[in-house]
Amino acid sequence: MKGGEAHGPLARALAGEAEALDTCVHCGFCLPACPTYVRLGDEADSPRGRLHLMRAVAEGRLDPVSDAFQSHLDRCLGCRACEPVCPSGVPYGRLLEHARATAREARTPAPATRGFLRLFASSRRIRWVFGLGRLARDTGGARLLSRLLPRMGRLGALRRALLMVAGSAPWRPGVLGGNGTDAASEPSPPRPPPPEATGFATAGVLAGCVQGALYARVGRATAAVLEVHGVDVRPVPGQGCCGALHAHAGDLEGARVRARANIAAFERAGVDRMVVDAAGCGAAMKEYGHWLAHDPAWADRALRLSERTLDVHEAVAVWGPRRGAPLVGTVAYHPPCHLHNAQDVGDAPLRMLAAIPGLEVRRAQGPEECCGGAGIYGVTHPELGGAIGADRARALADTEARCVATGNPGCMMQIAAHLHEEGAAMDVAHPVELLAESYRRAGWIRTRPGGP
Ligand code: SF4
Ligand code: SF4
Repeated sequence: MKGGEAHGPLARALAGEAEALDTCVHCGFCLPACPTYVRLGDEADSPRGRLHLMRAVAEGRLDPVSDAFQSHLDRCLGCRACEPVCPSGVPYGRLLEHARATAREARTPAPATRGFLRLFASSRRIRWVFGLGRLARDTGGARLLSRLLPRMGRLGALRRALLMVAGSAPWRPGVLGGNGTDAASEPSPPRPPPPEATGFATAGVLAGCVQGALYARVGRATAAVLEVHGVDVRPVPGQGCCGALHAHAGDLEGARVRARANIAAFERAGVDRMVVDAAGCGAAMKEYGHWLAHDPAWADRALRLSERTLDVHEAVAVWGPRRGAPLVGTVAYHPPCHLHNAQDVGDAPLRMLAAIPGLEVRRAQGPEECCGGAGIYGVTHPELGGAIGADRARALADTEARCVATGNPGCMMQIAAHLHEEGAAMDVAHPVELLAESYRRAGWIRTRPGGP
Protein backbone atom coordinates (compact mmCIF):
# COMPACT_ATOMS: atom_id res chain seq x y z
CA MET A 1 0.00 0.00 0.00
CA LYS A 2 1.24 3.52 -0.79
CA GLY A 3 2.37 5.93 1.96
CA GLY A 4 0.23 8.93 3.00
CA GLU A 5 -1.44 10.28 6.10
CA ALA A 6 -4.98 9.09 6.78
CA HIS A 7 -7.45 11.71 8.10
CA GLY A 8 -8.20 11.01 11.80
CA PRO A 9 -7.27 8.34 14.39
CA LEU A 10 -9.81 5.76 13.23
CA ALA A 11 -8.77 6.19 9.60
CA ARG A 12 -5.24 5.49 10.83
CA ALA A 13 -6.61 2.33 12.52
CA LEU A 14 -8.00 1.37 9.10
CA ALA A 15 -4.54 2.04 7.67
CA GLY A 16 -3.26 -0.46 10.27
CA GLU A 17 -5.26 -3.10 8.32
CA ALA A 18 -3.12 -2.48 5.23
CA GLU A 19 -2.11 -6.12 5.00
CA ALA A 20 -5.75 -7.26 4.98
CA LEU A 21 -6.68 -4.59 2.40
CA ASP A 22 -3.80 -5.70 0.21
CA THR A 23 -5.11 -9.29 0.02
CA CYS A 24 -7.76 -8.15 -2.49
CA VAL A 25 -6.53 -9.09 -5.96
CA HIS A 26 -9.44 -7.31 -7.73
CA CYS A 27 -10.64 -10.54 -9.38
CA GLY A 28 -14.33 -9.57 -9.08
CA PHE A 29 -15.56 -13.04 -8.02
CA CYS A 30 -17.45 -11.32 -5.21
CA LEU A 31 -19.50 -9.02 -7.44
CA PRO A 32 -22.34 -11.40 -8.36
CA ALA A 33 -22.69 -12.43 -4.69
CA CYS A 34 -23.24 -8.84 -3.52
CA PRO A 35 -26.93 -7.87 -3.18
CA THR A 36 -26.25 -4.13 -3.51
CA TYR A 37 -24.06 -4.51 -6.61
CA VAL A 38 -26.57 -6.85 -8.23
CA ARG A 39 -29.37 -4.32 -7.74
CA LEU A 40 -27.53 -1.02 -8.28
CA GLY A 41 -24.94 -2.13 -10.87
CA ASP A 42 -22.41 0.40 -9.51
CA GLU A 43 -18.84 -0.82 -8.94
CA ALA A 44 -18.62 1.48 -5.88
CA ASP A 45 -21.53 -0.48 -4.36
CA SER A 46 -19.65 -3.77 -4.76
CA PRO A 47 -17.21 -5.35 -2.28
CA ARG A 48 -14.28 -4.62 -4.60
CA GLY A 49 -15.37 -1.00 -4.98
CA ARG A 50 -15.84 -0.54 -1.24
CA LEU A 51 -12.39 -2.04 -0.56
CA HIS A 52 -10.98 0.41 -3.09
CA LEU A 53 -12.60 3.31 -1.17
CA MET A 54 -11.29 1.95 2.15
CA ARG A 55 -7.79 1.74 0.72
CA ALA A 56 -8.01 5.33 -0.62
CA VAL A 57 -9.01 6.56 2.86
CA ALA A 58 -6.30 4.47 4.56
CA GLU A 59 -3.69 5.96 2.20
CA GLY A 60 -4.92 9.51 2.79
CA ARG A 61 -6.00 9.94 -0.86
CA LEU A 62 -9.68 10.30 0.06
CA ASP A 63 -11.22 12.23 2.94
CA PRO A 64 -13.57 9.95 4.92
CA VAL A 65 -16.05 12.82 5.15
CA SER A 66 -16.55 12.61 1.35
CA ASP A 67 -19.97 11.58 0.03
CA ALA A 68 -18.38 8.73 -1.96
CA PHE A 69 -16.93 7.04 1.12
CA GLN A 70 -19.93 7.77 3.33
CA SER A 71 -22.72 6.74 0.96
CA HIS A 72 -21.23 3.56 -0.52
CA LEU A 73 -20.14 2.26 2.90
CA ASP A 74 -23.54 3.15 4.31
CA ARG A 75 -25.32 1.16 1.59
CA CYS A 76 -23.37 -2.04 2.43
CA LEU A 77 -25.62 -4.54 4.21
CA GLY A 78 -22.73 -6.12 6.10
CA CYS A 79 -24.16 -9.47 4.94
CA ARG A 80 -20.62 -10.75 4.20
CA ALA A 81 -21.84 -12.77 1.20
CA CYS A 82 -18.60 -11.56 -0.40
CA GLU A 83 -16.41 -13.51 2.05
CA PRO A 84 -17.10 -17.19 1.25
CA VAL A 85 -16.69 -16.57 -2.50
CA CYS A 86 -13.41 -14.64 -2.17
CA PRO A 87 -10.42 -16.75 -3.26
CA SER A 88 -7.99 -14.46 -1.39
CA GLY A 89 -9.76 -14.67 1.97
CA VAL A 90 -10.25 -10.90 2.35
CA PRO A 91 -11.66 -10.37 5.90
CA TYR A 92 -14.32 -7.99 4.60
CA GLY A 93 -16.47 -7.97 7.77
CA ARG A 94 -13.55 -6.88 9.95
CA LEU A 95 -12.50 -4.19 7.47
CA LEU A 96 -16.08 -2.94 7.23
CA GLU A 97 -16.22 -2.42 11.00
CA HIS A 98 -13.07 -0.26 10.85
CA ALA A 99 -14.38 1.60 7.80
CA ARG A 100 -17.73 2.30 9.46
CA ALA A 101 -15.94 3.58 12.57
CA THR A 102 -13.85 5.85 10.32
CA ALA A 103 -16.98 7.12 8.54
CA ARG A 104 -18.70 7.80 11.87
CA GLU A 105 -15.66 9.68 13.19
CA ALA A 106 -15.69 11.92 10.10
CA ARG A 107 -19.42 12.60 9.93
CA THR A 108 -22.31 12.34 12.38
CA PRO A 109 -24.55 9.41 11.42
CA ALA A 110 -28.11 9.92 10.16
CA PRO A 111 -30.77 10.68 12.82
CA ALA A 112 -32.39 7.22 12.51
CA THR A 113 -29.05 5.46 13.17
CA ARG A 114 -28.31 7.81 16.09
CA GLY A 115 -31.77 7.09 17.51
CA PHE A 116 -31.25 3.31 17.35
CA LEU A 117 -27.82 3.57 18.98
CA ARG A 118 -29.26 5.69 21.80
CA LEU A 119 -32.04 3.13 22.25
CA PHE A 120 -29.64 0.19 22.39
CA ALA A 121 -27.32 2.02 24.81
CA SER A 122 -29.71 1.56 27.71
CA SER A 123 -31.28 -1.70 28.84
CA ARG A 124 -34.04 0.30 30.56
CA ARG A 125 -34.93 2.07 27.30
CA ILE A 126 -34.86 -1.28 25.45
CA ARG A 127 -37.28 -2.75 28.00
CA TRP A 128 -39.64 0.21 27.68
CA VAL A 129 -39.61 0.54 23.91
CA PHE A 130 -39.84 -3.18 23.17
CA GLY A 131 -42.43 -3.57 25.93
CA LEU A 132 -44.56 -1.09 23.98
CA GLY A 133 -43.69 -2.99 20.80
CA ARG A 134 -44.93 -6.25 22.35
CA LEU A 135 -48.16 -4.53 23.38
CA ALA A 136 -48.64 -3.11 19.87
CA ARG A 137 -47.91 -6.57 18.41
CA ASP A 138 -50.16 -8.55 20.73
CA THR A 139 -53.14 -6.16 20.48
CA GLY A 140 -52.88 -5.91 16.67
CA GLY A 141 -52.19 -2.15 17.00
CA ALA A 142 -48.86 -2.36 15.12
CA ARG A 143 -50.46 -3.86 12.01
CA LEU A 144 -53.46 -1.51 12.20
CA LEU A 145 -51.28 1.60 12.45
CA SER A 146 -49.02 0.40 9.60
CA ARG A 147 -52.05 0.48 7.27
CA LEU A 148 -52.40 4.23 7.79
CA LEU A 149 -48.82 5.03 6.78
CA PRO A 150 -47.29 5.50 3.31
CA ARG A 151 -44.74 3.01 1.95
CA MET A 152 -42.01 5.55 1.27
CA GLY A 153 -40.17 8.35 3.10
CA ARG A 154 -39.72 8.71 6.86
CA LEU A 155 -43.24 7.50 7.57
CA GLY A 156 -42.51 4.56 5.28
CA ALA A 157 -39.60 3.64 7.60
CA LEU A 158 -41.98 3.78 10.57
CA ARG A 159 -44.45 1.60 8.65
CA ARG A 160 -41.71 -0.98 8.01
CA ALA A 161 -40.70 -0.93 11.69
CA LEU A 162 -44.33 -1.55 12.74
CA LEU A 163 -44.69 -4.42 10.27
CA MET A 164 -41.47 -5.94 11.60
CA VAL A 165 -42.72 -5.70 15.18
CA ALA A 166 -46.04 -7.27 14.11
CA GLY A 167 -44.04 -9.97 12.30
CA SER A 168 -42.39 -11.07 15.55
CA ALA A 169 -45.66 -12.76 16.60
CA PRO A 170 -45.32 -16.47 17.50
CA TRP A 171 -45.73 -19.07 14.76
CA ARG A 172 -48.86 -21.23 15.03
CA PRO A 173 -47.96 -24.86 15.75
CA GLY A 174 -51.23 -25.86 14.04
CA VAL A 175 -49.66 -25.12 10.62
CA LEU A 176 -47.53 -28.25 11.10
CA GLY A 177 -49.78 -31.15 12.05
CA GLY A 178 -48.94 -34.45 13.73
CA ASN A 179 -49.26 -37.89 12.16
CA GLY A 180 -51.99 -38.92 14.59
CA THR A 181 -49.69 -40.56 17.13
CA ASP A 182 -47.79 -37.56 18.46
CA ALA A 183 -45.11 -39.85 19.78
CA ALA A 184 -41.40 -40.11 19.29
CA SER A 185 -39.90 -43.47 18.43
CA GLU A 186 -38.58 -43.57 22.00
CA PRO A 187 -40.63 -42.81 25.14
CA SER A 188 -37.88 -40.71 26.69
CA PRO A 189 -34.82 -39.02 25.23
CA PRO A 190 -31.83 -41.35 24.96
CA ARG A 191 -29.21 -40.90 27.67
CA PRO A 192 -26.91 -38.01 26.78
CA PRO A 193 -23.26 -38.78 26.16
CA PRO A 194 -20.92 -37.96 29.07
CA PRO A 195 -19.55 -34.38 29.17
CA GLU A 196 -16.03 -35.74 28.48
CA ALA A 197 -17.32 -36.82 25.07
CA THR A 198 -18.97 -33.51 24.20
CA GLY A 199 -16.60 -31.08 25.89
CA PHE A 200 -19.24 -29.36 27.98
CA ALA A 201 -21.92 -30.04 30.54
CA THR A 202 -23.16 -26.55 31.48
CA ALA A 203 -24.27 -23.64 29.33
CA GLY A 204 -25.68 -20.15 29.60
CA VAL A 205 -28.04 -18.78 26.96
CA LEU A 206 -27.62 -15.22 25.66
CA ALA A 207 -30.90 -13.37 26.23
CA GLY A 208 -29.89 -10.47 23.94
CA CYS A 209 -31.83 -7.22 23.52
CA VAL A 210 -34.25 -7.56 20.58
CA GLN A 211 -34.21 -11.35 21.00
CA GLY A 212 -34.95 -11.11 24.73
CA ALA A 213 -37.66 -8.47 24.27
CA LEU A 214 -39.58 -9.83 21.27
CA TYR A 215 -38.45 -13.46 21.04
CA ALA A 216 -38.12 -14.60 24.65
CA ARG A 217 -39.93 -17.76 23.51
CA VAL A 218 -36.90 -18.67 21.33
CA GLY A 219 -34.64 -18.46 24.40
CA ARG A 220 -37.03 -20.76 26.29
CA ALA A 221 -37.03 -23.21 23.37
CA THR A 222 -33.21 -23.14 23.27
CA ALA A 223 -32.93 -23.88 26.99
CA ALA A 224 -35.53 -26.67 26.77
CA VAL A 225 -33.85 -28.33 23.78
CA LEU A 226 -30.41 -28.15 25.45
CA GLU A 227 -31.88 -29.76 28.57
CA VAL A 228 -33.32 -32.61 26.48
CA HIS A 229 -29.72 -33.14 25.35
CA GLY A 230 -28.50 -33.37 28.94
CA VAL A 231 -27.04 -29.86 29.29
CA ASP A 232 -27.36 -28.10 32.61
CA VAL A 233 -28.61 -24.63 31.55
CA ARG A 234 -27.72 -21.98 34.13
CA PRO A 235 -28.78 -18.34 34.49
CA VAL A 236 -26.29 -15.62 33.56
CA PRO A 237 -27.17 -12.50 35.58
CA GLY A 238 -25.73 -9.20 34.36
CA GLN A 239 -25.60 -10.13 30.66
CA GLY A 240 -26.96 -7.68 28.08
CA CYS A 241 -26.87 -6.55 24.46
CA CYS A 242 -23.99 -8.20 22.53
CA GLY A 243 -22.84 -4.94 20.88
CA ALA A 244 -23.38 -6.10 17.27
CA LEU A 245 -25.58 -3.16 16.31
CA HIS A 246 -23.01 -0.72 17.70
CA ALA A 247 -20.16 -2.38 15.81
CA HIS A 248 -22.16 -2.42 12.55
CA ALA A 249 -22.95 1.28 12.97
CA GLY A 250 -19.27 2.15 13.51
CA ASP A 251 -19.47 2.65 17.29
CA LEU A 252 -16.66 0.22 18.14
CA GLU A 253 -16.15 1.70 21.62
CA GLY A 254 -19.84 1.20 22.40
CA ALA A 255 -19.53 -2.40 21.16
CA ARG A 256 -16.49 -3.00 23.41
CA VAL A 257 -18.35 -1.69 26.48
CA ARG A 258 -21.06 -4.29 25.89
CA ALA A 259 -18.54 -7.04 25.18
CA ARG A 260 -16.74 -6.42 28.51
CA ALA A 261 -20.03 -6.55 30.43
CA ASN A 262 -20.96 -9.89 28.83
CA ILE A 263 -17.49 -11.38 29.37
CA ALA A 264 -17.66 -10.51 33.08
CA ALA A 265 -21.22 -11.89 33.38
CA PHE A 266 -20.34 -15.22 31.77
CA GLU A 267 -17.18 -15.58 33.86
CA ARG A 268 -19.26 -15.06 37.02
CA ALA A 269 -21.80 -17.65 35.85
CA GLY A 270 -18.98 -20.20 35.46
CA VAL A 271 -20.57 -22.05 32.52
CA ASP A 272 -18.68 -24.21 30.01
CA ARG A 273 -20.31 -22.72 26.91
CA MET A 274 -22.30 -19.70 25.86
CA VAL A 275 -25.12 -20.68 23.55
CA VAL A 276 -26.64 -18.05 21.25
CA ASP A 277 -29.85 -18.36 19.23
CA ALA A 278 -29.54 -15.06 17.34
CA ALA A 279 -27.05 -15.39 14.47
CA GLY A 280 -26.06 -11.71 14.51
CA CYS A 281 -25.28 -11.85 18.24
CA GLY A 282 -23.34 -15.11 17.94
CA ALA A 283 -21.23 -13.68 15.10
CA ALA A 284 -20.48 -10.60 17.25
CA MET A 285 -19.53 -12.65 20.33
CA LYS A 286 -17.18 -14.75 18.24
CA GLU A 287 -15.47 -11.42 17.34
CA TYR A 288 -14.96 -10.31 20.99
CA GLY A 289 -11.39 -11.62 20.88
CA HIS A 290 -10.72 -9.40 17.89
CA TRP A 291 -12.59 -6.36 19.28
CA LEU A 292 -10.54 -6.42 22.50
CA ALA A 293 -7.24 -7.70 21.10
CA HIS A 294 -5.48 -4.42 21.99
CA ASP A 295 -6.85 -4.19 25.54
CA PRO A 296 -4.32 -6.02 27.76
CA ALA A 297 -6.79 -6.41 30.65
CA TRP A 298 -9.45 -8.05 28.48
CA ALA A 299 -7.79 -9.61 25.42
CA ASP A 300 -7.37 -13.14 26.85
CA ARG A 301 -10.77 -13.13 28.55
CA ALA A 302 -12.45 -11.95 25.34
CA LEU A 303 -10.75 -14.66 23.31
CA ARG A 304 -11.84 -17.29 25.86
CA LEU A 305 -15.49 -16.25 25.58
CA SER A 306 -15.30 -16.12 21.77
CA GLU A 307 -13.93 -19.67 21.73
CA ARG A 308 -16.70 -20.82 24.08
CA THR A 309 -19.54 -19.27 22.11
CA LEU A 310 -21.69 -21.66 20.10
CA ASP A 311 -24.70 -20.99 17.93
CA VAL A 312 -27.61 -23.14 19.13
CA HIS A 313 -27.56 -25.18 15.91
CA GLU A 314 -23.86 -25.97 16.45
CA ALA A 315 -24.46 -26.77 20.14
CA VAL A 316 -27.26 -29.23 19.42
CA ALA A 317 -25.29 -30.78 16.54
CA VAL A 318 -22.62 -31.82 19.08
CA TRP A 319 -24.98 -34.60 20.28
CA GLY A 320 -27.21 -35.34 17.42
CA PRO A 321 -29.75 -33.78 17.47
CA ARG A 322 -32.20 -36.35 18.85
CA ARG A 323 -35.26 -37.23 16.75
CA GLY A 324 -38.55 -36.13 18.29
CA ALA A 325 -42.24 -36.58 17.42
CA PRO A 326 -43.56 -35.76 13.95
CA LEU A 327 -44.49 -32.29 12.71
CA VAL A 328 -46.08 -32.98 9.36
CA GLY A 329 -45.79 -30.23 6.78
CA THR A 330 -43.38 -28.08 4.80
CA VAL A 331 -40.88 -25.42 5.87
CA ALA A 332 -38.66 -23.20 3.74
CA TYR A 333 -35.24 -22.77 5.36
CA HIS A 334 -33.59 -19.34 5.08
CA PRO A 335 -29.93 -19.21 6.25
CA PRO A 336 -29.15 -15.95 8.10
CA CYS A 337 -26.07 -14.25 6.59
CA HIS A 338 -24.47 -13.95 10.03
CA LEU A 339 -24.79 -17.71 10.47
CA HIS A 340 -23.88 -18.90 6.99
CA ASN A 341 -21.32 -16.28 5.93
CA ALA A 342 -19.97 -14.88 9.21
CA GLN A 343 -19.94 -18.07 11.36
CA ASP A 344 -19.61 -20.64 8.57
CA VAL A 345 -22.48 -22.66 10.05
CA GLY A 346 -24.16 -24.18 7.00
CA ASP A 347 -25.41 -27.72 7.65
CA ALA A 348 -26.23 -27.71 11.38
CA PRO A 349 -29.63 -25.94 10.97
CA LEU A 350 -30.62 -28.41 8.24
CA ARG A 351 -29.61 -31.28 10.51
CA MET A 352 -31.74 -29.78 13.26
CA LEU A 353 -34.78 -29.64 10.97
CA ALA A 354 -34.03 -33.15 9.64
CA ALA A 355 -34.40 -34.45 13.22
CA ILE A 356 -38.13 -33.68 13.04
CA PRO A 357 -39.97 -36.62 11.47
CA GLY A 358 -42.55 -35.66 8.86
CA LEU A 359 -41.05 -32.25 8.14
CA GLU A 360 -40.22 -31.54 4.51
CA VAL A 361 -37.55 -28.86 4.17
CA ARG A 362 -37.55 -26.76 1.01
CA ARG A 363 -35.03 -24.19 -0.20
CA ALA A 364 -35.88 -20.97 -1.99
CA GLN A 365 -34.27 -20.00 -5.27
CA GLY A 366 -30.92 -18.33 -4.51
CA PRO A 367 -30.86 -20.33 -1.27
CA GLU A 368 -28.29 -18.18 0.53
CA GLU A 369 -29.46 -14.72 -0.53
CA CYS A 370 -29.73 -11.96 2.07
CA CYS A 371 -33.21 -10.89 3.24
CA GLY A 372 -32.24 -7.19 3.46
CA GLY A 373 -32.90 -7.00 7.21
CA ALA A 374 -29.22 -6.62 8.23
CA GLY A 375 -29.71 -5.29 11.76
CA ILE A 376 -31.42 -1.91 11.40
CA TYR A 377 -30.85 -1.69 7.61
CA GLY A 378 -34.45 -2.68 6.78
CA VAL A 379 -35.61 0.44 8.63
CA THR A 380 -32.77 2.88 7.87
CA HIS A 381 -32.77 1.96 4.14
CA PRO A 382 -36.45 1.27 3.48
CA GLU A 383 -36.12 1.42 -0.31
CA LEU A 384 -33.07 -0.78 -1.00
CA GLY A 385 -33.66 -2.98 2.06
CA GLY A 386 -37.33 -3.15 1.02
CA ALA A 387 -36.49 -4.23 -2.54
CA ILE A 388 -34.12 -6.96 -1.30
CA GLY A 389 -36.67 -8.06 1.32
CA ALA A 390 -39.49 -8.23 -1.24
CA ASP A 391 -37.37 -10.39 -3.59
CA ARG A 392 -36.52 -12.73 -0.74
CA ALA A 393 -40.12 -13.00 0.47
CA ARG A 394 -41.31 -13.81 -3.06
CA ALA A 395 -38.66 -16.53 -3.45
CA LEU A 396 -39.66 -18.05 -0.08
CA ALA A 397 -43.39 -17.82 -0.92
CA ASP A 398 -42.69 -19.61 -4.23
CA THR A 399 -41.64 -22.71 -2.26
CA GLU A 400 -45.32 -22.99 -1.17
CA ALA A 401 -44.15 -24.09 2.27
CA ARG A 402 -46.38 -23.40 5.29
CA CYS A 403 -43.66 -21.86 7.39
CA VAL A 404 -40.25 -20.17 7.04
CA ALA A 405 -37.51 -21.34 9.42
CA THR A 406 -34.59 -19.02 10.10
CA GLY A 407 -32.28 -18.47 13.09
CA ASN A 408 -31.95 -14.71 13.57
CA PRO A 409 -34.49 -12.21 14.96
CA GLY A 410 -33.67 -9.54 12.35
CA CYS A 411 -34.29 -12.02 9.50
CA MET A 412 -37.43 -13.35 11.20
CA MET A 413 -38.95 -9.86 11.45
CA GLN A 414 -37.85 -8.68 8.00
CA ILE A 415 -39.12 -11.83 6.27
CA ALA A 416 -42.42 -11.81 8.20
CA ALA A 417 -42.99 -8.13 7.31
CA HIS A 418 -42.37 -8.76 3.60
CA LEU A 419 -44.40 -11.97 3.49
CA HIS A 420 -47.26 -9.89 4.88
CA GLU A 421 -46.69 -7.22 2.19
CA GLU A 422 -46.71 -9.93 -0.47
CA GLY A 423 -49.93 -11.42 0.93
CA ALA A 424 -48.21 -14.79 1.58
CA ALA A 425 -49.83 -16.78 4.40
CA MET A 426 -46.63 -18.25 5.88
CA ASP A 427 -45.62 -18.34 9.53
CA VAL A 428 -42.03 -17.64 10.58
CA ALA A 429 -40.24 -19.66 13.27
CA HIS A 430 -36.72 -20.26 14.57
CA PRO A 431 -35.60 -23.87 13.80
CA VAL A 432 -35.11 -24.48 17.54
CA GLU A 433 -38.77 -23.56 18.14
CA LEU A 434 -39.78 -26.29 15.70
CA LEU A 435 -37.49 -28.84 17.37
CA ALA A 436 -38.84 -27.83 20.80
CA GLU A 437 -42.41 -28.35 19.56
CA SER A 438 -41.42 -31.78 18.23
CA TYR A 439 -39.96 -32.66 21.66
CA ARG A 440 -43.06 -31.29 23.40
CA ARG A 441 -45.26 -33.57 21.30
CA ALA A 442 -42.90 -36.41 22.23
CA GLY A 443 -43.55 -35.63 25.90
CA TRP A 444 -39.92 -34.65 26.56
CA ILE A 445 -40.76 -30.98 27.18
CA ARG A 446 -43.74 -30.25 29.38
CA THR A 447 -44.88 -26.83 28.23
CA ARG A 448 -44.81 -25.15 24.86
CA PRO A 449 -41.93 -22.62 25.04
CA GLY A 450 -43.85 -20.34 22.67
CA GLY A 451 -47.13 -20.75 24.50
CA PRO A 452 -48.86 -18.15 26.68
S1 SF4 B 1 -13.40 -11.79 -4.57
FE1 SF4 B 1 -11.95 -11.11 -2.94
S2 SF4 B 1 -10.02 -10.72 -4.02
FE2 SF4 B 1 -11.63 -10.81 -5.61
S3 SF4 B 1 -12.30 -8.64 -5.86
FE3 SF4 B 1 -13.67 -9.56 -4.33
S4 SF4 B 1 -12.71 -9.08 -2.36
FE4 SF4 B 1 -11.13 -8.76 -3.93
S1 SF4 C 1 -21.17 -7.29 2.97
FE1 SF4 C 1 -22.85 -7.82 1.54
S2 SF4 C 1 -23.58 -5.84 0.73
FE2 SF4 C 1 -21.56 -5.46 1.71
S3 SF4 C 1 -20.07 -5.65 0.05
FE3 SF4 C 1 -20.20 -7.71 1.00
S4 SF4 C 1 -21.78 -8.79 -0.19
FE4 SF4 C 1 -21.98 -6.58 -0.70
